[in-house]
Amino acid sequence: MSSVVVVSSENVDEKQQSLTTSVVQAADKKVNLLGMSRAELEKFFEDLGEKKFRASQVMKWIHQFFVTDFAEMSNISGKLREKLEKICEIKAPEVVHRNYSKDGTRKWVFRVGDGEGSLVETVLIPAEDKTGARKTLCISSQVGCALDCSFCSTGKQGFQRDLTPAEIIGQLWMANYSYMEDVPVAERERTVTNVVMMGMGEPLLNYDAVLSSMQLMLDDFAYGMSKRRVTLSTSGVVPKIDQLAQDIDVALAISLHAPNDELRNELVPINKKYPLQQLIAACQRYLAKDGNESSRRHVTIEYVMLEGVNDHPEHAQQLLKLLKNLPSKINLIPFNPFPHAPYGRSSRNRIIAFQKTLSDAGFVCTIRQTRGDDIDAACGQLVGQVADRTRRAEQWKKKVAQRQEILRTQG
Ligand code: SF4
Repeated sequence: MSSVVVVSSENVDEKQQSLTTSVVQAADKKVNLLGMSRAELEKFFEDLGEKKFRASQVMKWIHQFFVTDFAEMSNISGKLREKLEKICEIKAPEVVHRNYSKDGTRKWVFRVGDGEGSLVETVLIPAEDKTGARKTLCISSQVGCALDCSFCSTGKQGFQRDLTPAEIIGQLWMANYSYMEDVPVAERERTVTNVVMMGMGEPLLNYDAVLSSMQLMLDDFAYGMSKRRVTLSTSGVVPKIDQLAQDIDVALAISLHAPNDELRNELVPINKKYPLQQLIAACQRYLAKDGNESSRRHVTIEYVMLEGVNDHPEHAQQLLKLLKNLPSKINLIPFNPFPHAPYGRSSRNRIIAFQKTLSDAGFVCTIRQTRGDDIDAACGQLVGQVADRTRRAEQWKKKVAQRQEILRTQG
């Protein structure tokens, strides 16, 4: 059992107060330091009667050297290490499945929560770029999703719960650690170069946890990533886009997928609440916040190519009109069908023709390469398989029990 941490409730803001509460409540449970922001960790050490700078020391051990054992933190006194061992832990979500593709794509399924818990997935996609080898990690923010976009396998799983900051940053921690586990601690380095908040869930509907995780990604004592290399992708929660503009400076991507309200209402139902005009205006405000900042020069527009649904030449024309006053780069995504998906993937020719219309009009328009086909790299697919396997295992257990019962009654 850990000791109770006593803190003064004077002059603590709401966030610190909730940390305080969680530390006090944690008398029986170890406190997980993995998801704590710098401010939270500094407060934590002050509450322990320690100096604030311990926070940055411990952050480096956790996020730059991928150490989970306090005994390895050689610049921390033995007495403090012992204390930390008793009351804290550094715990990433449990990996229940990992799959490394021949093309370098890596995918993990994590169990989050107690007991059987729930499953979320994370994908790492490597690519060569002018700065060398880029490794982009696609991170989940919720278990399932409430928004039910009609082409999305995560939406079909429904919403279960929000991820905590430790479960969100834990995905980045684990992806880095997967390259470093056999490397001596002193030689370890951060390998993931880019993050996109584009996995399972709508990140802006788990705002506080996502914000605090992205702050850790940018923090020099944690991952120290450039703000241009951290992208939040949203289906269009307009008020939260405005809030994000005030709170952090990261790149913004919009899961657009349709160039008019009628079609978007069908593909991305949140459009009924925040239609295209409102969404585009929010993107313009986001860029205008400080237009000279490099992370805010443009918005990335994600557009999944669905055969015969949103890939006609007139859709490309409508898209041109819609985006004419929004500095944007367009990313066309060939649809990756999942079991029982109601759509097919647009033909290569159709995608290229769509791209040409946009490029000829002056837009930077790329076609996303299909990667990791051999490991089901589309959002939600691997979780579906693991869950299926679990169900199948249950059915198998039932069958065996029935057979045993028959044998027992016959015998
Ligand atoms: S596309 Fe994104 S927002 Fe829409 S259901 Fe899937 S995870 Fe949710």
